[in-house]
Amino acid sequence: MHLPGGAHHIAGAFGDDDGPEQEVLDPSTGQVLWTYRADTPATVERAIDAAEAALPGWAGSTPVQRSTVLHALARELSAAAEELAQAETAQVGKPIRLSREFDVPGSVDNVVFFAGAARRLDGMAAAEWSGTHTSTIRREPVGVVGSIAPWNYPLQMAVWKVLPAIAAGNTIVLKPAENTPLTTLMLADAAARAGVPAGVLNVVNGPGPLTGESLVRSPRIAMTSFTGSTAVGRHIAALAAANGTRLHLELGGKAPFVVFADADLDAAVRGAVAGSLINSGQDCTAATRAYVHRSLFDEFVAGVAELMAAVRLGPTRDEDTDQGPLASFRQRDKVAAMVTRAVADGATVVTGGRAPGGELAGGAYFEPTLLVGADQRSEIVQSEVFGPVLVALPFDDDDEALALANDVPFGLAASAWTRDVFRAQRVGRELAAGTVWINDHIPIVSEMPHGGTKGSGYGKDMSVYSFDEYTQVKHVMSDITGTAR
Ligand code: NAD
Repeated sequence: MHLPGGAHHIAGAFGDDDGPEQEVLDPSTGQVLWTYRADTPATVERAIDAAEAALPGWAGSTPVQRSTVLHALARELSAAAEELAQAETAQVGKPIRLSREFDVPGSVDNVVFFAGAARRLDGMAAAEWSGTHTSTIRREPVGVVGSIAPWNYPLQMAVWKVLPAIAAGNTIVLKPAENTPLTTLMLADAAARAGVPAGVLNVVNGPGPLTGESLVRSPRIAMTSFTGSTAVGRHIAALAAANGTRLHLELGGKAPFVVFADADLDAAVRGAVAGSLINSGQDCTAATRAYVHRSLFDEFVAGVAELMAAVRLGPTRDEDTDQGPLASFRQRDKVAAMVTRAVADGATVVTGGRAPGGELAGGAYFEPTLLVGADQRSEIVQSEVFGPVLVALPFDDDDEALALANDVPFGLAASAWTRDVFRAQRVGRELAAGTVWINDHIPIVSEMPHGGTKGSGYGKDMSVYSFDEYTQVKHVMSDITGTAR
C-alpha cells in the first residue's frame, strides 16, 4: 500500500515533526499500517505561515486559472484512484467496493464540480440608487481557512473542505483525524503534482487537542470549518468565538426514516438496510430511527431483519464483502456498549447486537443490528450511535410520526417513504433537517447543499451554497454622475 512521504505537507512538500507517536491501524485486522510523529503547534504555525504567504497570489488569480489547476487535480486523483481506494479501505476498514465505487469517484466528482464552480462566483449588479449611483456585489475570499475533518470518509471530507475553499480563492490548513491521515496526505501530494501553488493547501496531522486546537486558536485563521462530533464542535465554537473567527460546523446526526402506510414496503425495507448500514453506519446521515406505520410495522421489522442477517461481513479487500469493521476498536466498543445499555433500558434485539467471532474476531466488526421496543426518550433513540444499528418504532398518524421524527437534538438528514404526493410535500416541509429525501435515503451529490440544523451545526458543504461560507460579500457603490459631494 502507498504510504505518504511524511506526516505533514506544507508549502508543497512532505515533512515530519517530533510530537507524540501516532499509529494508523487497519481496523479489519488490528495491524499497524503506519506510524508517524504528531505535528506540534510550531509546525501548525509554519503551515499557517505558508498559507498566508500563498494567499495574495492565489486570491489574486483569475477564476480561469484556479479552474484549470483544479481540473488538473481531478485528473491526478483519477490517475491515483486505485491507490487512494486501497489506502482508504485499509485505514477506515471500508469494503474495497465502497472505496472504489463511492469514496474515490465521489471525491473526484466534487473536485470537478468546484473546478467548474470556480468560474461561477457570481456577484450582482445591484439597484441603481436614485439614479445617481450604481452598486456591484463582489464575492471575495475570506483568507486563510483552518479545517478539521473526521475519520469516517477521510478523502471525501478533505475534498469537501478543501475544494470550495480554494476554488473561491482562499488558502487552507487542514487537519484530518489522527487515525486516518493517509488519503488526505495523498490529496495534498496530488495537488502539488497538479500545479496547485505551494502553500495553497497545507495538511498537518495529530490529535485534536494538540494539533487541531492550535489551528483553531490561531488568530491568523480567518475561518474555521469543522466536521465532527457535536461535543467537539461546541468546544471549537467557543475557541473560535474568542478570536471572532468565522465558523462553519458540520456535526452529528440522528436521521429518522419515516415509513407511511401507503409506502412501497419492499423499497422501504431495502432502503432502511442500505441507509442504516452504509459505511458500517458511520455516516452522519445514516438512517438510525425507523418510524413505521403500525399497519406495516411487523412486516417491516421481519423484512429488515431478514436482509440484515444476509449481509456479508468480511475482509475489506474481498470484493464480495458488504460490510467491513468499524473504523476503530474504540468505536466498536462504544457501539457495543450503547446496544447493551439499550437492552438494559427495555429494547429487544431482533437481529445482530454483538461482535462476530471466528475469523473476524481480530477486527473491529459489529453485526448489523435491529432493535425494537426502545423508548423515544432512551439513549439509543436520542443519541448518535455511529454504528450499524437501526431502531424501529411504530406510529399511528402523520402528526405523531412528524413529532417523533423531530424529537431529537439533531437535524442533519431525514427520509420519508410514501406514494402520496400531498403527504410527501408536507413532510418535506415539516421534517426538521438540512436534507429530506423522499423515497430514498443517503444520496449526496456535488450540486446540492449538505449541512444541518439544531445540534447538527450550521453552514453548507458542497454545491454553490458552500461559497456562502467561504466568501465574504462586498458592496462597492459608485457615483455615476460625477457630481457627488
Ligand atoms: P471528533 O469530533 O472526535 O473528531 C473530529 C475531528 O476533530 C478529528 O480530526 C479530531 O482530531 C478533531 N478534534 C478532536 N478534539 C479536538 C479539539 N479539542 N480541538 C480541535 N480538534 C479536535 O469526531 P469523530 O469521532 O472523528 O467523527 C465522528 C463525528 O463526526 C460524528 O459525530 C459524525 O456525525 C460527525 N460527522 C458529521 C458529518 C457532517 O457532515 N455533519 C460528516 C461526517 C462526520
